[in-house]
Amino acid sequence: MQTVTRFAPSPNGHLHLGHAFSAIVAHDLAKAAGGRFLLRIEDIDGPRSRPELADEFRRDLEWLGLEWEEVPAQSTRLASYEAAAEQLVQAGLVYSCTCTRKEIEAIEPRRGADGLVYPGSCRDRPHDPGKPAALRLDIDSAMERVGEIIWTDEIAGSVIADPREFGDVVIVRKELPASYHLAATLDDAADGVTLVTRGEDLFASSHVHRLLQELLKLPVPRWHHHRLLLDENGEKLAKRRGSPSLADRRIAGEDGLMLAEQLRLQELPVGT
Ligand code: GLU
Repeated sequence: MQTVTRFAPSPNGHLHLGHAFSAIVAHDLAKAAGGRFLLRIEDIDGPRSRPELADEFRRDLEWLGLEWEEVPAQSTRLASYEAAAEQLVQAGLVYSCTCTRKEIEAIEPRRGADGLVYPGSCRDRPHDPGKPAALRLDIDSAMERVGEIIWTDEIAGSVIADPREFGDVVIVRKELPASYHLAATLDDAADGVTLVTRGEDLFASSHVHRLLQELLKLPVPRWHHHRLLLDENGEKLAKRRGSPSLADRRIAGEDGLMLAEQLRLQELPVGT
């Protein structure tokens, strides 16, 4: 089977070195296998999405010397998210949740792989149709439905899916067409991605994505969670505030091809 990888940035902010590294890893894995490297703009974050950034991303990737095929942006695929959410509603595996972040914090729930684990307060109570509601997946029922499932990461090996670490994860966000988990899982399937390549900070999300694939009868890819770039102090680069974006570097006349080579060798350029 032909290897298909993707880079799926959200146009909420400029791309930085960590993004460049991620794009290069995905690009190089596809090219080494004679496969395809896709670019997908994940632009369903409501007012946080800035459409003008998509063009900047394309210029950044070109400057790094990458070649890609662009697939339709998420904002053009809302009907598929709606249909999948409806399938989960019909299967009786989701419920409406009107809790606000403040209300959830006030319950002092435990911390899981991705922040606070929602304690399921709305699971068994009728919800007020006047309030904005999210749709949450009932993880225990969903796991019972599918039994044990496995996924494979090229670096970590075989992994038993354990999405309970997320609690009842949001599938459709309040006033937004889908959550990251639902949209990315559906899109990877629709785009024929065979190797989901991204940073290891998203490793835990793959437990949820694997479960969604099983529930929605989607093809199951392999994963490659690459390590994150660290600066000279061992801090995650993504956490570093105020470092120049790829666009800043490009506009300042830095050599993108050389930067890409440095990133391949993990030698961080000056000023990171
Ligand atoms: N849009 C997501 C991000 O920018 C993509 C994550 C993924 O590669 O699945 O973090």
